[in-house]
Amino acid sequence: MQECELLATCGFFQKYQDTLDMACRGFIKTYCKGEKMDECRRKAYRAEHGVPPHDDMLQSGQMMPKSYQQAG
Ligand code: SF4
Repeated sequence: MQECELLATCGFFQKYQDTLDMACRGFIKTYCKGEKMDECRRKAYRAEHGVPPHDDMLQSGQMMPKSYQQAG
C-alpha cells in the first residue's frame, strides 16, 4: 500500500489515525494513504516553513472544526 512518507512524524496522523469520525477517516484514506498525498497542505506547510503545522490543521489547509478536535 502506498503511504505518505511523513506518516510516522505527522502530528495529524498520530493524533487522528484511530478516529471513528468518517470525514476524518476519509481525509486519511484520500491523502495519507491515497492518491492525493502529494497535494497535502500539511506537507506543503512543512516544506515551506521547515516545521510541522498545528496537529489540527487538515490536509486541505483548513483547521479541524473545534467540535471535532480531539484532546492531546
Ligand atoms: S496529513 Fe499529510 S503530511 Fe500528514 S501523513 Fe497525511 S498526507 Fe502525510
